[in-house]
Amino acid sequence: MTREELYSGKAKTIYKTDNPEILIAEFRNSLTAFNGEKKGEMDKKGYYNAHISKKLFEMLESEGIRTHYIEMIFDIDMLIKKVEIIKIEVIVRNIAAGSITKKYPLKEGTIFKLPVIVFDFKSDEYGDPMLNDDIALALGLATREELTILRKLALRINELLLIYLDERGIILPDLKLEFGRKDGEILLADEISCDTCRFWDKKTGQSMDKDIFRFNKGDISKAYEKVARRIVPEIFE
Ligand code: UDP
Repeated sequence: MTREELYSGKAKTIYKTDNPEILIAEFRNSLTAFNGEKKGEMDKKGYYNAHISKKLFEMLESEGIRTHYIEMIFDIDMLIKKVEIIKIEVIVRNIAAGSITKKYPLKEGTIFKLPVIVFDFKSDEYGDPMLNDDIALALGLATREELTILRKLALRINELLLIYLDERGIILPDLKLEFGRKDGEILLADEISCDTCRFWDKKTGQSMDKDIFRFNKGDISKAYEKVARRIVPEIFE
């Protein structure tokens, strides 16, 4: 099947299909960190992340969250609904880790009483700076109503993921969500995977996510596989 590339991001390539409302997201093995400064590859990364995302999208759909996910058509190819991506990275933090511990006097591991939501401007050119509502509105990234919906959806998604992952021995310190508009509705888009979440082992506290690549913390391949074994055991049968 020849397919026309629409867009290639840092970890996924998006292709057109015969149906203008439907696209293919191909999950690649490439890894990047620090706004593309650090680059790498990991065998099977695309496969694990695609299947972890698929499972989490299905779980969220079953709980009433609308997502862009349609179905997997091949190991690393996900059929998705075409949406207009909102250029806001919605970050939800349950435990302090990463950039927030560098910008503010917060020790890594500090548990937040309430989830902390941060909006970042999704822009490689500007290095994803943090937004407040007024800047988001001034940039025309979303309406005030949409910002309220994004917060509400992010909190609900975080709540559902915390429970689901805890049952599988995974702590969720933080995650990044992206949303898109379709037919007047806001759908969860992009991916939910080891590249876009912090996952810590509930027993050992060790990272099982992209921090291993960012900070050379060990065997990234083993860690992603461990997460996949807990979330999508069926792909190992
Ligand atoms: N994150 C992401 N893409 C980005 C920035 C952050 O997926 O461009 C995720 C990251 O993996 C983590 C959470 O969002 O789970 C919070 O990231 P943080 O702001 O701490 O930035 P980082 O320390 O990852 O640079």
